[in-house]
Amino acid sequence: MTETMLAAFYIEDNAPLELRQTAIPTPGKGEVLVKMESCGVCHTDVHFWKGEDELPREKPAILGHEGVGTVVRKGAGVELADGTRVGIGFVFKACGTCRECRRGYETYCRNSQATGVHVEGCFSEYVVASADWVTLIPEELSSEEAAPLLCAGVTAYSAVRKAQLEPGSVAVIFGLGGLGQYAIQCAQLFGATVIGIDLDPAKLETARSLGAHAAYTPGNDAVAAIQALGGADACLSFAPSPQVFRSMFDLAAPTARFIQVALPNQPFSFAAAEIIDLGITIIGSADGTRLERDQVIQLAKEGKIRSTIKTLPFVDINTALTALDKGQADGRLVVNY
Ligand SMILES: [Zn+2]
Ligand SMILES: [Zn+2]
Repeated sequence: MTETMLAAFYIEDNAPLELRQTAIPTPGKGEVLVKMESCGVCHTDVHFWKGEDELPREKPAILGHEGVGTVVRKGAGVELADGTRVGIGFVFKACGTCRECRRGYETYCRNSQATGVHVEGCFSEYVVASADWVTLIPEELSSEEAAPLLCAGVTAYSAVRKAQLEPGSVAVIFGLGGLGQYAIQCAQLFGATVIGIDLDPAKLETARSLGAHAAYTPGNDAVAAIQALGGADACLSFAPSPQVFRSMFDLAAPTARFIQVALPNQPFSFAAAEIIDLGITIIGSADGTRLERDQVIQLAKEGKIRSTIKTLPFVDINTALTALDKGQADGRLVVNY
C-alpha cells in the first residue's frame, strides 16, 4: 500500500482548494522529503488561485512556498541529516551554471524552477525540496515565525539591500502591510531614518511601533515633512498603486533610488528629465538569494526582525486564501500542519 498524505489541490480558478489524500512523493537525487510544520500564505498563491497569473503546469496542482518542516527522507547525494529543520522558499532550484547564477544573481536564472509553480508546493503534509536550496532554521525560531520570512521577509530584505542605505539616509516605505512592516525594520538595521506611508491610519501606528521615525497618510504633509529632512534617499514601494510611483518624484533627494516591489496593474510613466535631473536610479526587486534568506533568518533569530502572524490549521487553508484576497489579513497568515 502506498503511504498517503493530506494535500490541498488547486483545481480551478477561484474554487476552494480541494483537500484530499494523495501519495507521499519520493525525493530524487539531490532532494529531500520534508514533513511540513508551518507554511505562510503569500499573495502570489492568491494570484494563481484567482487565475490572475497562469500556472505553467497542469492542474490539479499544489501551491505554497513559505514552508518550514523537518527532513524525513532523502535521495542520493544529500548530506543533510534526517530531523534537520529547514525552510523552503519560492525558488525551488536554479541551474547553478549560467551567467546569472555565476554572478550571484541566482534568482534571475532563466532555467530556475519555483516551488508551487513548476513543482508541487508546500500546501501539503509532505513536500520534496532541493537540498541545495533549503534554508537551515535555528532552534531559537519557531516554524510559524520562520515561515513568512522565506518569501515575504526575504523579499523586503532584498529590496532594502538594493536601496544601499547608509547611516543618515532617509528611506520612505510605501505600503505598510506585511512586506512594508519587514522593510521598516530592515531599513533601520542599515542606519536609515525610516518614514512609512499608507492610506490606512491604523497601519501608521504599527509602523511607529516597529521603530519608524514617522508615518503619514499620502499628501502634502508627508511631502513637506520628508523634504524638511532633505528628501528621500530611497523610496521603496510595496503598495500596488501607480500613484505611488508618481509621488516618489515629489519626495526624492538627488541620486535617490526607487525600489519597485509592488505590481500595480497599470503602467506608469515619467519624463526622462525627471530621472536625469536628479540622477535617479529605478530598480525592480522580487524575492532574494539563498544568502539573503540566511541573513533574514539570522536577523530574526537575533530578535531584530519581528513578524506579526496569525495562525490557522492547515485544513482552513481556504479561509486563509480568502482573507488574504479580501485584504482582511492583519500581518502574515500561516497555516500549521
Ligand atoms: Zn511569495
Ligand atoms: Zn542559472
